[in-house]
Amino acid sequence: MDLHNHTRYSRDGTMTPQELLERAAARGVDALAVTDHDCLRGALECAALAAADPSLPRVIVGEEMASCQGDLVGLFLTRQIPGGLDVLDTISLVREQGGLVYLPHPFDSLRRATMAPDWVDRVAAAADVVEVANGRALTWEANRRALQLASRHATRLGAGSDAHYPGEVGRTYLELSSPLSLGVPSAFLRGLRRARPCATRPLVGLSRSWFFCLRTGLLMALRRRSGLHGADGG
Ligand SMILES: [Zn+2]
Repeated sequence: MDLHNHTRYSRDGTMTPQELLERAAARGVDALAVTDHDCLRGALECAALAAADPSLPRVIVGEEMASCQGDLVGLFLTRQIPGGLDVLDTISLVREQGGLVYLPHPFDSLRRATMAPDWVDRVAAAADVVEVANGRALTWEANRRALQLASRHATRLGAGSDAHYPGEVGRTYLELSSPLSLGVPSAFLRGLRRARPCATRPLVGLSRSWFFCLRTGLLMALRRRSGLHGADGG
């Protein structure tokens, strides 16, 4: 299971919903969360595709919101949550619709959108899941500190590729001995107790991450130049 993925409805994503799901299926992913930046459309499209085709992985509808203090993911959402809100208001909006609060890459300090350091503990205390393995982490240190944070606040452990293009899908994941039910968020959360985070080697992550930056930077520049903002989703 892979809890952090993007489609082209994210400004820096390249994959169509169908492409993301097919790639995940090819990588042996049983279920994945689709978490576009400030946009629910890609996740909803993925859920519809998966519901119509049992050969595709099961989908958790999610979103990665750019709060004032940094990125925060909501899982099991039904309504889009705007970016640019205070993180505590963002958490309230996730809770209002029965979703789970997932804190992504809390110590990946090289990213602009990582949660502000003086907010990390407060947000982790309010979160259901802390991401302790992120496919784009540049060092093991970021993941190791995230694991300590999750232990300190007794949250469930999360893992996700943070995939923005096909080569990243399914590279970081949660291993489970049997599939988790996605029907009820609270039951899903209980089931995460038996999930084991698995990450790729950091050196691979390092070299590929720089490539990602180059690639996604070029993509965003091209979209700006050609005025293709339709798939940005904010
Ligand atoms: Zn992300």
